[in-house]
Amino acid sequence: MSPERWLFWHRRDLRLADNLGLAAAAAATPALTGVVVLDPAELNAPTMAPARRWFWRESLRELGERWQAAGSRLLLLEGDPVELLPQLAAAAGAGVVAWNRDGEPLGRERDRRVAAALQAAGRKVLVDWDQLLIAPEQLRTGGGDPYRVYGPFLRNWRGQVERKALLGSAASGGLEPVAAPSGLLDLNPEHLSDAQRQIWDRLPLRQLDTASLLGEGFAGAELCPCRPGEAAALAQLQAFCDGGSGGDGPISTYEPARNIPSEAGTSGLSAALALGTLSPRQAWAAAQQARGLARSEEALAAITVWEQELAWREFYQQALFHFPELADGPYRPQWRHFPWENDPERLQAWGDGLTGMPIIDAAMRQLSASGWMHNRCRMIVASYLVKDLICDWRLGERHFMAHLVDGDLAANNGGWQWSASSGMDPKPLRIFNPATQASKFDPEANYIRHWLPELRHVTTRDLISGDIAPLERRGYPETIVVHKEQQARFKALYATLPRS
Ligand SMILES: Cc1cc2nc3c(=O)[nH]c(=O)nc-3n(C[C@H](O)[C@H](O)[C@H](O)COP(=O)(O)OP(=O)(O)OC[C@H]3O[C@@H](n4cnc5c(N)ncnc54)[C@H](O)[C@@H]3O)c2cc1C
Repeated sequence: MSPERWLFWHRRDLRLADNLGLAAAAAATPALTGVVVLDPAELNAPTMAPARRWFWRESLRELGERWQAAGSRLLLLEGDPVELLPQLAAAAGAGVVAWNRDGEPLGRERDRRVAAALQAAGRKVLVDWDQLLIAPEQLRTGGGDPYRVYGPFLRNWRGQVERKALLGSAASGGLEPVAAPSGLLDLNPEHLSDAQRQIWDRLPLRQLDTASLLGEGFAGAELCPCRPGEAAALAQLQAFCDGGSGGDGPISTYEPARNIPSEAGTSGLSAALALGTLSPRQAWAAAQQARGLARSEEALAAITVWEQELAWREFYQQALFHFPELADGPYRPQWRHFPWENDPERLQAWGDGLTGMPIIDAAMRQLSASGWMHNRCRMIVASYLVKDLICDWRLGERHFMAHLVDGDLAANNGGWQWSASSGMDPKPLRIFNPATQASKFDPEANYIRHWLPELRHVTTRDLISGDIAPLERRGYPETIVVHKEQQARFKALYATLPRS
C-alpha cells in the first residue's frame, strides 16, 4: 500500500532545512507535496513592498528547486487559501495538511478559517510553532501574565533557551537544527483518478515566471543587504558569525559596530528571518559556534548583544500574539487622543528624503533605493516623523511596510511604538535630536555622503547639523522644521494627553 499523501503549506518559512512543521510531516510520510498560495489579499496590499515581492519570488525559485532535489515538488497556487487548500487536498488525495503557526492577528484568523474548511472536508491539519526559539505561550511572568517589558522577558527567555539547548535536536524539543527532508515521493498528476483530475485541472496552478502577483522585480535588488533564498541566508549567517574562515566574524565586533550605519556591522538577516529562509535555531546555533571561537571578553559580550536582538524579535512577536490590538493602534490608551498634525507635505518630504535634515534624508533614501534601512537610522527617522513632524506613527509604520524587504508586522509595529513612546517601553517620552544622533553615530558623515551624493562637497560639521549655507545646497532643500521648536511644540501637545 502506498503511503498517505500529505501537503505542507509554506508561508513565512521559505526553506527546507530546520523547518519544524515540514520535518514533522516528512517524519510521518514520504509522500509529501509542498504548496505556496500566492494570496492577492497579501501580495496586492498597498503595504506590500516591491523589495519584499522580489525576496519572495527569488526565495521561491530556490525553494522549488529544493523540493525537486528532495524527490518531490512545490506547487504554486494563486488565490484564497481558504478555498484553494481544500480543493488541492481533494485533488491530490491528501489526508493531512501541515503548516507552521503564524502569530499575526490576520494570519491567525486566516489559519483558523483554512483549518475549519479542511476539517469540514474531512482532512486533518497538523500545526505547531517554528519561527520562534520559545513559543509565546511558554513565556509568562510569575503571575501568569504575558510580558509587557523587555528586561524581565529577556531573563525568562534566555533561561528557557539555555535549558532547551540541552535537549538536543529541535525534532525532540531542543534547539539543534534539523536537516532538510530527502527521499520524498512525488505526486504524479497523471496517476490521479478522473474525479481528482477534474479538480486538479481547475486549480489556479502557476509557474514562478507566470505568477504576476510576485511582480516584475525590484530595481534596488543589488543594493539590498538581504539576499533571498535559503543558501544565501546560510552563507550570510556563516560569514557574519565566523567570517567565512572559522575565525572571528563581524558578530565579534557587533557591539559597538551595530550602531554605525556606514559600516556593514550587522548581519543583514532580517528578511531571511522575517520570511523564513533562515530559522531562529540556525541563527542561535551559529551564535553559539561563534562563542566557541571568540578570542576576547569583548567578542563574547558582542555575541550576547546579538543574541539579545534575536530576543527583541521574539519579544515583539509574543507581544503581538498576546495583545493583537497592538496592530490597530497605540498600546498606551492616552495616545489615542494625541492631536497629530499629519501635514501631507511634511509627510511627503520625509518619505522622499527631502526634509533638509541630511541624516534623515540619507536614511530615507537608503530605504527607497535598497528596500532596507539600518536599525539606528530606523529609530532616528521614526522619532523625527513623530516628534519633529508631529505625524501619527501609523503613517510611518505603513510607509515602512510599503518599502521594507524585511517588513514584519510585529517588529515594525514594535519599533514604531517604541519610537513614538506609545508602546510597552517603560520610558514615558523619548525624543531623539537628529543632529546629536548623526554626530554620535555618523561622526565623519560617511553614511550621509554615501546616500546624499549631491552633498559630498559640504563640510562634515554642516552635514551633521543640517545647517547648510544656501550656496552650498545646490538644490537640496532647506530644513522643513527646526528641531528645538518642534520638540517644545511636541512636549506641549503631549502635556494635554490624559494621564493613565
Ligand atoms: C521603526 C522601526 C521599524 C522596524 N521594522 C522592522 C521590520 O519591519 N522588520 C524587521 O525585521 N525589523 C524591523 N525593525 C528592527 C531592526 O531595525 C531590524 O531588524 C534590523 O535593522 C535588521 O538588520 P539586521 O538583520 O542586520 O539586524 P541585526 O542587527 O543583525 O540583528 C539580528 C536580527 O535580530 C532581529 N532584530 C534586530 N533588532 C531588532 C529589533 N529592534 N526589533 C525586532 N527584531 C530585531 C532581526 O530579525 C535581525 O535580523 C524595526 C526597527 C525600528 C526602530
